[in-house]
Amino acid sequence: MKKKLVVIGNGMAGMRALEELLDLAPNNYDVTVFGAEPHVNYNRIMLSPVLAREQAFEDIIINDLAWYEDNNICLRAHEKIVAINRSNKTIISDQDRITPYDILWLATGSDPFIIPIPGKDLKGVTTFRDMSDVTTMIDASETYQNAVVIGGGLLGLEAAYGLKKNGMKVTVIHLADTLMERQLDEAAGFLLKSELESRDITILTGANTGALVGKDRVESVQLKDGTEIPADLVVMAVGIRPNMTLARAAGLECNRGVVVNDHLQTSDPDIFAVGECVEHNGLTYGLVSPLYEMGRAMAGYMVGHGSRYKGSVTSTKLKVTGVELFSAGDFNGGPDCEDIVFRDARRGVYKRLVIKDDRIVGAVLYGDAADGPWYFQLMKDKDKIADIRDYMIFGQALAMGDNAADPMAAVTALPDKAEICGCNGVCKGAITSAILTKGLTSLDEVRAHTKASASCGSCTHLVEQVMALTLGDSYQAPTATPMCGCTDHTHDDVRHLILHHQLKEIPAVMQMLQWKTPNGCSKCRPALNYYLIAAWPGEYQDDYQSRYINERVHANIQKDGTYSVVPRMWGGLTTPNELRAIADVTDKFNIPTVKVTGGQRIDLLGVKKEDLPGVWADLNAAGMVSGHAYGKSLRTVKTCVGQEWCRFGTQMSMGMGVDLERMAWGSWTPHKFKMAVSGCPRNCAEATIKDFGVVAVDSGWELHVGGNGGMHVRACDLLCKVTTDAEVKEYCAAFMQLYREEGHYLERTAPWVERVGLDSIKQRIVEDAENRANLAKRFHISQQGNQQDPWAERAKHNVHAHEFKPLADVG
Ligand SMILES: Cc1cc2nc3c(=O)[nH]c(=O)nc-3n(C[C@H](O)[C@H](O)[C@H](O)COP(=O)(O)OP(=O)(O)OC[C@H]3O[C@@H](n4cnc5c(N)ncnc54)[C@H](O)[C@@H]3O)c2cc1C
Ligand code: SF4
Ligand code: SF4
Repeated sequence: MKKKLVVIGNGMAGMRALEELLDLAPNNYDVTVFGAEPHVNYNRIMLSPVLAREQAFEDIIINDLAWYEDNNICLRAHEKIVAINRSNKTIISDQDRITPYDILWLATGSDPFIIPIPGKDLKGVTTFRDMSDVTTMIDASETYQNAVVIGGGLLGLEAAYGLKKNGMKVTVIHLADTLMERQLDEAAGFLLKSELESRDITILTGANTGALVGKDRVESVQLKDGTEIPADLVVMAVGIRPNMTLARAAGLECNRGVVVNDHLQTSDPDIFAVGECVEHNGLTYGLVSPLYEMGRAMAGYMVGHGSRYKGSVTSTKLKVTGVELFSAGDFNGGPDCEDIVFRDARRGVYKRLVIKDDRIVGAVLYGDAADGPWYFQLMKDKDKIADIRDYMIFGQALAMGDNAADPMAAVTALPDKAEICGCNGVCKGAITSAILTKGLTSLDEVRAHTKASASCGSCTHLVEQVMALTLGDSYQAPTATPMCGCTDHTHDDVRHLILHHQLKEIPAVMQMLQWKTPNGCSKCRPALNYYLIAAWPGEYQDDYQSRYINERVHANIQKDGTYSVVPRMWGGLTTPNELRAIADVTDKFNIPTVKVTGGQRIDLLGVKKEDLPGVWADLNAAGMVSGHAYGKSLRTVKTCVGQEWCRFGTQMSMGMGVDLERMAWGSWTPHKFKMAVSGCPRNCAEATIKDFGVVAVDSGWELHVGGNGGMHVRACDLLCKVTTDAEVKEYCAAFMQLYREEGHYLERTAPWVERVGLDSIKQRIVEDAENRANLAKRFHISQQGNQQDPWAERAKHNVHAHEFKPLADVG
């Protein structure tokens, strides 16, 4: 008599394993399959197209009833197994049917995770796991309008796409900052987000769901920050948990899943497990290809081939139509990994390969995933890639073809009519002929005569290659220094292109300007953050992670790891109240050193990081705000006592200093920015070595710019003389704004003035009143969002609270 094989779970893994077994030994077993769902075996992966109404359920059936009959399989669909009795080798169904087995397969898959929040059991809340969930969603879309998908992973985004196709207004709520963060890096996640937003799907990243609200049916989703989003349908797609209820109750070894050996055998040798319910070597899987590999090994073992399952490397694709996306392996990189990055802004392509020890260990492809399988194979085979390293990012065709030996080959091979500059429609032949007929030798000349690379600049590298090809040895590559190793663009190019393309996020800049690294480096990220702040006041959200430590914690780190705290003292003036508060806070937090600074303020040195919010709270209570002593921003406005007290003083220098500081505090600048005001030409406030120095004279004020103390002392240049206090403020605002708009990040005003020339600055500020007024206006607009005390935000509203936790409490 044949042995009895009973399978619990009529899903993808169980039935594939059964197909493998039937191929190897069609008549060995008497097979019975139990499935809780009322269906034959269908392709769960294709539920997304069914939801999007691109396919019908019938299209996604893998094995129809005839297959079960032809193979003498007894299918018991819509019958759930409720217990396994290992002592007498039987199982019991919810219809009280007792079925004996010789060999039992557990193929029970996973359960979707339901976030334990208030309202989770309301009507209209569903998961996305099986056909009945799809029916629930399609039905809801016929009556209701607003859908919220919780979870921006593969499943959540496919649900969002499907619901949108059903005419619903869809919002995706995702906890992490990057969509599909387990498969995509920041750059690819950004592109995906932009693509989905362009399809009218609202994406909220960094959003934490607090509760689902409604009486009987869900009406809205409440985020922990208080935001409320209308919702008639909520889809929870936040992850899955291996379904091991039966296995656990039967006393089989379970951990994160049902524990199996290399033969897929559980702790009971007559019970095997396969699919998502399994834990093998500490790992569980949520994609089909490893489950199929498990099935093959299990079937092979059962027919005596001794097959073993060795674990799997997985890759992911998103099936949302029109979004090409591929991800495999480890894309987090690390100190011993290198990245090869390719971006084609015009085609919206981003490709990144992570290399370790001369092998591909991870790949993320967006926009063009055609070579995904090839990279994946190289990765799985652990092939060495030294020989193809320089070309493989361009794809298998180029890297493995005859062209591989010559880096210029791809350009050489382009026909004359191949378009090089997409913005201006300039082809290779037009560039070559302009170079030859007009004797062009520089990129600027080529830009001027052909317009190639004159707009978005993303074809610059290609244009340079055409020049190199045409001019041979006489071609001189441009010498402008790029911002950093991540890009060929200079600071000026980047600033210009941010405005030209209206780029408003760091990943958008990196994609459009074809950054060579996935996420930039410690040089370019803070610079880009600043350029975006300066370009889009009030619109751009500061990326505080791109800032250096001092700016992240709003205090200066000292050599022993403690911090220094410098409250603002407007124009160097203080009051008994402020001094009392400083004395009290010093005692209360055992601050070891209190020092008067060169900028006429009081520095509290030796503050522990975790005490910073407390110190700030006490200083805030006495009316003091951050002095930004750590920032690339306005630092101090030093003043002398001036006409208020000094017998030589010709103007009120203290009053002017306070006014200037009140006007300019909080502004972010390319580098630190210092000012001073002296009440007469004796210049006791040393105003002529400041970024903006004001010196009173009998007839008004002299304005000096571009000075610097420090390592390279530079005395200011005289910008002009003005007569009124209002003019001092207008010129100061205009000068600061010009510097904010033109200075390179980390360039002080002294080198900036020398770089652009004093005449050019005078011409735009002194001689052109309209331009001056516009600059000042832009400065004041940007100040509207800047003048918020960062200390108060942290001390009172817990902004970035994790930064100030003692190490032992973190994680
Ligand atoms: C919408 C969606 C899209 C997906 N897209 C992809 C993709 O693009 N690529 C990819 O690789 N993977 C994808 N997956 C994942 C893939 O579908 C799963 O990895 C795969 O289906 C798991 O197979 P399984 O047999 O382990 O579990 P399942 O296919 O879930 O089958 C388990 C079956 O067991 C039944 N069962 C459970 N307990 C019992 C019981 N006690 N008695 C009787 N029956 C029981 C269940 O009802 C179910 O039918 C997707 C999944 C979903 C839901
Ligand atoms: S700069 Fe002139 S006004 Fe100011 S303190 Fe010195 S002498 Fe007096
Ligand atoms: S002068 Fe040198 S030692 Fe003194 S505070 Fe500045 S950096 Fe530190």
